[in-house]
Amino acid sequence: MAHQTIRTLYHYINGEKVVGRSGRMGDVYNPATGDVCAKLPLASKAEVAQAIQVARDALPAWASTPPLQRARILMKFRELVLQHQDEIAQTMSQEHGKTLPDSLGDLTRGLEVVEFATGIPHLLKGDFCENVANVVDSYSLRQPVGVCVGITPFNFPAMVPLWMFPIALACGNTFVLKPSEKVPTTSLLLADLLTQAGLPHGVFNVVNGEKEAVDALLTSPDVAAVSFVGSTPVGEYIYRVGCEHGKRVQALCGAKNHLVVMPDADMNQVVDAIIGSAYGSAGERCMAISVVVPVGEETAQRLREQLIPRIQGLKIGAYTDKTVEMGPLITAQHLQKVKGYVDIGVQEGAELVVDGRGVQVAGGEKGFFLGGCLFDHVKPTMRIYLEEIFGPVLSLVRVNSYAEAVQLINVHEYGNGAAIFTRDGDCARNFTHTVNIGMVGVNVPIPVPVAYNSFGGWKRSLFGDHSIHGAEGVHFYTRLKTITTRWTTGLRGAQFHFKGGSEH
Ligand code: NAD
Repeated sequence: MAHQTIRTLYHYINGEKVVGRSGRMGDVYNPATGDVCAKLPLASKAEVAQAIQVARDALPAWASTPPLQRARILMKFRELVLQHQDEIAQTMSQEHGKTLPDSLGDLTRGLEVVEFATGIPHLLKGDFCENVANVVDSYSLRQPVGVCVGITPFNFPAMVPLWMFPIALACGNTFVLKPSEKVPTTSLLLADLLTQAGLPHGVFNVVNGEKEAVDALLTSPDVAAVSFVGSTPVGEYIYRVGCEHGKRVQALCGAKNHLVVMPDADMNQVVDAIIGSAYGSAGERCMAISVVVPVGEETAQRLREQLIPRIQGLKIGAYTDKTVEMGPLITAQHLQKVKGYVDIGVQEGAELVVDGRGVQVAGGEKGFFLGGCLFDHVKPTMRIYLEEIFGPVLSLVRVNSYAEAVQLINVHEYGNGAAIFTRDGDCARNFTHTVNIGMVGVNVPIPVPVAYNSFGGWKRSLFGDHSIHGAEGVHFYTRLKTITTRWTTGLRGAQFHFKGGSEH
């Protein structure tokens, strides 16, 4: 593989690239080669405070800008992102490891939220009630909450930040984004394109860093709302500390997504769906399928036989090879963690049917690669079933009945996504109605809501009262105000005019 130059990154504050001054730098890796591809400044408390101050200063003018003007800047931003999409996808794949089509998909799904946000004049329209009492009218409207913060994970470097800031900005808020320190460049590129699109300086800022930067954001009295997407232990912390400091918080967290296979399902369709949803993006998706629940022994056997060769045949490698289906894991530490789970599964007594631990990738000997792994006969008491692994490790949990499958899902601590594959409408209807999960698919393995619906799980997959984007996003980034007016001086003597019977 070609030698990569090491880029030096920056913060993006007040419409400018800002050199880090904390004296602390982090390494950003190319996971396909194991080499450092960028150096990242890790913000100090003072640098974070500066970004918040800038966002606060920019707030009054931006909040008073007519929504249509705000929307037009987002329209221009969308055009600029599309013009630069290949460059952005390259950077994303270099830092994350996912294939180029996956990176483009990441960006495209994010841009759909921008498209949604450009409709903000309509979305902010309030309700008006005339004559709620004699000459008293009442109306409601939604106003921005203030300085909003986004704290985002590594696995969707474009889509997850784009779930947040387009709607926050469209609603009239200003924003400070703290992207994942593992994949920071995409956010910096997007920040620059926002400035090129005409966004006033200070309305959108990026600070890079880790816990110190996050804590400074969470505890600042000038931050009104925090959107977090990441792991459950960190999300719980963010939710607790943010709420203690009086902020509105939404924290979208970890997952263990089940796919139920009924005996009548189309097995070819099921296997295709599992390969894409369990191993795509190396299983590092919060909506990845990590547990498959075949109903009945015969279903389990047929599924297993078809799955094994497909998993063994997965083409694994670097994003630079266009034929690759699955890239590396994000870091050496994460690779060790995921491999550790494979060891645990073996110790727990599950049957390791496909073992990806010995995968060889030509030219990627130092890369963080793991081949697809498949466990059969996994029991609901095992750690590999209970805990989020976040890698290409799939568990088959065999059950004897549909009711047993639903019960498994309903008692699991996570509630992000679940899917059922069946041709039976009655069964599908019962599943969607009863399952204790936020996002449900029928013959759709990854039921990710589109931008104008809202994305969010249940149980320990989401802390807070709002899902993200769609109408819930508009509600999260605005405060409801209701105004009641009495005007006794106007229109004295004038009456309602009704047409007479002969008038048209
Ligand atoms: P992570 O929790 O390690 O990091 C997320 C963010 O929190 C990063 O910006 C990171 O810098 C920050 N952070 C990490 N540790 C912190 C700490 N101790 N204190 C304060 N901030 C801290 O998550 P990740 O590994 O980047 O992403 C993977 C996780 O994200 C998985 O659990 C996945 O399920 C989850 N995820 C959830 C969704 C969803 O919508 N529910 C979507 C994508 C990813």
